[in-house]
Amino acid sequence: MRYQESATESAELLRLILPRIARHGGAYVPTTYSLWYEYLSGVNPKLIAALDERLRNERPMTQAEVEHFYSKFIDTREASTLEAYQAGLSELMRRLAEIAASSGAGTAEFSRTLAQCQHDLGAISDPAGVHRIIQSLVTSTTAVRESTTTLQKEVAATREEMQQLRGQMGELQNLAQTDPLTRLRNRRGFELAVSEFALGRAADLGGCSLLIADIDQFKKVNDNYGHLVGDQVIRALAQVLQNSVKGRDITARWGGEEFIVLLPQTPGEGAVTLAEQVRVAFGKTRIKSGGRKELSDTVTISIGVAEIASGEPLEQAVGRADSALYTAKNGGRNCVRVAPPAGATDALEPGRQDATVAAAS
Ligand code: GH3
Ligand code: MG
Ligand code: MG
Repeated sequence: MRYQESATESAELLRLILPRIARHGGAYVPTTYSLWYEYLSGVNPKLIAALDERLRNERPMTQAEVEHFYSKFIDTREASTLEAYQAGLSELMRRLAEIAASSGAGTAEFSRTLAQCQHDLGAISDPAGVHRIIQSLVTSTTAVRESTTTLQKEVAATREEMQQLRGQMGELQNLAQTDPLTRLRNRRGFELAVSEFALGRAADLGGCSLLIADIDQFKKVNDNYGHLVGDQVIRALAQVLQNSVKGRDITARWGGEEFIVLLPQTPGEGAVTLAEQVRVAFGKTRIKSGGRKELSDTVTISIGVAEIASGEPLEQAVGRADSALYTAKNGGRNCVRVAPPAGATDALEPGRQDATVAAAS
C-alpha cells in the first residue's frame, strides 16, 4: 500500500494541502492533490527535494508543471520505464561509439551527436525526451551505417583487387619459371626449387643425386625431320622423365635438348638405376608428329649422374654430372655414366662403372 496514514492523519494532511494549492498554483484536481499529499506526508523524499527547489522561485506553478512533477516523482511506473530506457540507451550509445571507433566510420559529427545524446539523457524526464534522443540517434546511425557500408564495400573491392593481383603475380612468377614447350621448370625454376628444398635441410644437398639427360645427335633429328618434330622429341623426353620420377624429385629443362633432375635422398647407385630406366623407356618411345608416320630412326639419350657430397655447392655438382654426361657421349652415347665422388681426381669409380650401360645397337 502506497499511503499508510490513518483517517485522522490524512484529514490533517487535507487541511494543509488546500492552502498549499491556493498559494503555489495548479488546479484542484487529483494530480495536484497527490503532489502535495506526498510532499507533506514526507513519503517521497525526491519529490520534496525537487519541489523545494522549485518553490524557491515565488512564481506560481502552472498545471503543466504540476503534471510534470507528478509524472516524474509520483507515477513511478512511467518513471521506472523511463529509467530502463535511459539505461538501455546509454548502453546502446556506448556500443555505437565503440563500433564507430573500430570501424573507422566514427565521424566527428557522429561523435558529437553521441556526446550530446549522452548529455541530454541525464536530463530527460519524459517519454517525449527519450523519443527525441532516439530520433536523433536513428538519424546519425543511419548516416554512419551508410558510411560504414561504403567503407565495407571499399574494403571488399580492395581485397578482391589484391587477390587478383596476387593471382596475376603468381601466374607471372610461374611463367618466368616454366618452360613453355614442355611445361616443366626452366633453369631458373629449377634453381629456385632446389634452393627452396635445400632451405629445409640446412642448405645441404648432401646425399641427393643429380641426373643430366641429353638427346643424342639431336641436330640430325632436326635436320632429317624438321624443327617441329624436334620439338615433339623434346616433349616426349619430358614426358618420360615425368613418368619416371617421384613427386619430390625436381625435374627441369636445363636448356635445348638437355634435362636435369634432382633426386632427394638418393645415393648414386639409386640415381643410376633410375637413369637407366629413363634411358630404356625413352628408347622405346615411338614418336609421331603431325599425322606423319613414326620416325624411322630410334632417338636415344645419354645421361650423366652425380651424387652430391655434403656441403657441395649445386653448381659444382652440376659440373660433375655434366662431365659424366660428356663421358657418356664419348663412350658411344645411349648410356649412363656416373661422376667420381666430389674431390676425387681419378676417373669414374670402378664399382660404379658397372652401373653404366654401353651404347645400344
Ligand atoms: P650430342 O649427341 O653430342 O648431344 O649431339 P647433339 O646434336 O644432340 O648436340 P648439339 O648440342 O650439337 O645440338 C643440339 C641441337 O638441339 C642444336 C639445336 O638447334 C637443337 N635445339 C635446341 N633447342 C631446341 C628446341 O627447342 N627445339 C628443337 N627442335 N631443337 C632444339
Ligand atoms: Mg644432344
Ligand atoms: Mg646438348
